[in-house]
Amino acid sequence: MHVIYGGTFDPIHHGHLRLAIELKDRLGVSEVSLVPSHIPPHRGDTGATSAQRLHMLRLAVAEESGLVVDDRELRREGASYTADTLRQLRSQLGIHEPLVMVVGTDAFAGFDRWREWESIVQLAHVVVVRRPGPPLDPQGVPAKLLRERGVGESQALHRSPWGYVLELDPPLLDISATAIRERIGEGRSVRYLLPDSVWREICRLGLYGACPDGNV
Ligand code: ATP
Repeated sequence: MHVIYGGTFDPIHHGHLRLAIELKDRLGVSEVSLVPSHIPPHRGDTGATSAQRLHMLRLAVAEESGLVVDDRELRREGASYTADTLRQLRSQLGIHEPLVMVVGTDAFAGFDRWREWESIVQLAHVVVVRRPGPPLDPQGVPAKLLRERGVGESQALHRSPWGYVLELDPPLLDISATAIRERIGEGRSVRYLLPDSVWREICRLGLYGACPDGNV
């Protein structure tokens, strides 16, 4: 079973890494692929470049054998659509191998606005990780998908290549990339919120603002 966990990772932090490990255990796989996305134009240009985000991800997973980085969305021209990524993976994996895409409840709440969302559930399973925030609208398409395609345990995902939705409620660390960027912008330390190797690289490259002296 192939599991992908996408995000902007601007920068990667311990909240992401901890969830990835938790997913590995709970889904019963030996590896989870982190897939950095192109930053959509509306995000502005205060963050890191695609190459820098990718570099930080590689540093972060260097000592973690069960996590790998898949840079296919950065190698494609233009916007990255999940449906295209899953289609590429499906053609590599063949029709029998289970494929899983992980999303947070916040992202899943707008799932029916994703490009080709109907194809997505015919290419992969969707694992929805519960995040703080409002519950799904019971009348909406995402809640309907969960009712119609929902499974109660991860073993079901191994038995079919695509088509199921599994909700998980793992413990999450209260860390966000936005808060990290803000702290660095204010010249404060972000140690222990992300790997030291990533923090050192942020300071070396002068990303997101000013690093505090002697605190790296
Ligand atoms: P930003 O604050 O810039 O929006 P972020 O920290 O939320 O960033 P993203 O790179 O946008 O991170 O998120 C990648 C994925 O990780 C998303 O599915 C998001 O829901 C999830 N995620 C973000 N923070 C955490 C966390 N602390 N624990 C678990 N999952 C998280």
